[in-house]
Amino acid sequence: MAVYRAEWVLPVAEAPIRGGWVAVEDGRIAAVSSTPTSGATDLGSAVILPALVNAHTHLELSYLRGVVPPSSRFLDWIAAIMAARRRYANPHDPVIVAAARAGIEEAHASGTGLVGDVTNTLVTVPLLLEASMAARVFYELLGFNADDPAARVFQARAAVGAHPADGDLRCSVAPHAPYSVSPGLFAAIREDLESHPGDISTVHLGESPEEIEFLAHGTGPWRDLLMTLGAWSDAWKAPGSSPVQYLADLGFLDSRVLAVHGVQFDGEDLARLRALGTTVVACPRSNRYVGVGDPPLEAFYAMGVKVAFGTDSLASVGDLNMFTELAQARRLGPRVPARALLESATLGGAAALGFADEFGTIEAGKRGALIAVRVPANVGDVEEYLLTGIEPAAISWLDSESSQLPASNSQ
Ligand SMILES: [Zn+2]
Repeated sequence: MAVYRAEWVLPVAEAPIRGGWVAVEDGRIAAVSSTPTSGATDLGSAVILPALVNAHTHLELSYLRGVVPPSSRFLDWIAAIMAARRRYANPHDPVIVAAARAGIEEAHASGTGLVGDVTNTLVTVPLLLEASMAARVFYELLGFNADDPAARVFQARAAVGAHPADGDLRCSVAPHAPYSVSPGLFAAIREDLESHPGDISTVHLGESPEEIEFLAHGTGPWRDLLMTLGAWSDAWKAPGSSPVQYLADLGFLDSRVLAVHGVQFDGEDLARLRALGTTVVACPRSNRYVGVGDPPLEAFYAMGVKVAFGTDSLASVGDLNMFTELAQARRLGPRVPARALLESATLGGAAALGFADEFGTIEAGKRGALIAVRVPANVGDVEEYLLTGIEPAAISWLDSESSQLPASNSQ
């Protein structure tokens, strides 16, 4: 058994513990307490917290870091990304694989222990396994005029294979977005979800103003792009509703689906999502990068919606550090309690991805996936401090081999 003591312990399930300790045995948390103990490894001026959860990323796009600059217009950014992705016809190109592998290492080094990874190629599956990074892998389908949605999903399910629903790597099928997936394909994916009770799905929803226009009137840049790509379907009629209402009416949204982005969600959307139990995954840095605006974070929390955070891919964000994402969330939501933001980046993401029994809090029985962050001596509000943008140099993983914190260079 290893016992770690630190100035602070942040169990997430309860208030921060001053001078607490955590015992880990056989990879599981055995106890967390503030009673005096002997024989603990003293981490000093640090806070022990559960590994962070990045609920939305696309590790296979890591090779696109910095390739397309920030945009003020979403469709311009999309067109540039599509062009960049065409440069490598082979999804297993060594450039793509090496960048994805480095992305996983980068996420780990910044304290992330569980990811929700969206992939169109499944190229990241062996890389996540090799790195022992726990993950919900979403095999993402697109098809606005797909001929046989059931066959598409059948093929996807076969490709996803038989990763156990309680393993460290759990694969599911997911639709991309309302403007790129037909109602029939949504229905087929939902049917697949129904027949796999342990599965979780996800969808990009309410990201851009162009998506709002497309669903309201069937017009605008999304329709133009679908026409250009030969992907338009004359059978599709604009629902005349918001993205949330549209997918709720299709029966797609519930507590097993993560709605990613939500920049355009209004109060009615949020009330509906709260009633459905759907988690909203906010990716505020990416939203700004691609030119869709800022998510209404304070409204998410004020309306009582479940919230998680994601970095999105390195194509639209500078790093995979969830602490940097949290710092941006703090800037956008200055009135959201620090504890709520930290809970979203840990338990919120773990629960949304179907890993609440393993990750997200420091509680006896859960995985000993713990990190320590160096904090200044006598830090006033340790939760608020964790929202200031923690760098990897101040983060260490607690495991049997390395209980020493790296030397600090920032405090
Ligand atoms: Zn995404």
